[in-house]
Amino acid sequence: MSDLLERLRGRGWRMTAQRRVVAEVLDGDHVHLTADEVHARAVTRLPEISRATVYNTLGEMVTLGEVIEVATDGRAKRYDPNAHRPHQHLVCGRCGAIRDVHPGGDPLADLPDTERFGFTISNVEVTYRGICPSCAGSA
Ligand SMILES: [Zn+2]
Ligand SMILES: [Zn+2]
Repeated sequence: MSDLLERLRGRGWRMTAQRRVVAEVLDGDHVHLTADEVHARAVTRLPEISRATVYNTLGEMVTLGEVIEVATDGRAKRYDPNAHRPHQHLVCGRCGAIRDVHPGGDPLADLPDTERFGFTISNVEVTYRGICPSCAGSA
């Protein structure tokens, strides 16, 4: 587990029932949910939780730096609780499964100065694309 709940508590974040449900839904490894997916799962635990509350809560977690936003599929933003260990994403082009991966080497250091055009680079996102084993098996 990614211990998101513990991290949020450690930041002194006031833990309401609604915030706890959002954090629980988002906690775990290889979790990359859209806000709508988080909401759909949250209502099964707390039926009265609104979409707006889920969106606001996700935004606050991002502001705290305990959740990161990722755009791996060019569609809706996804929320990722794995905010402290730098990682890249491996995406299945058929079912959309996403895995956190840790390539050897540093993708930022690997970009030569001549390719930086004077930019100060703050962050690198690499997406590896392919077909996951279960999609490959059903092909
Ligand atoms: Zn797949
Ligand atoms: Zn991730």
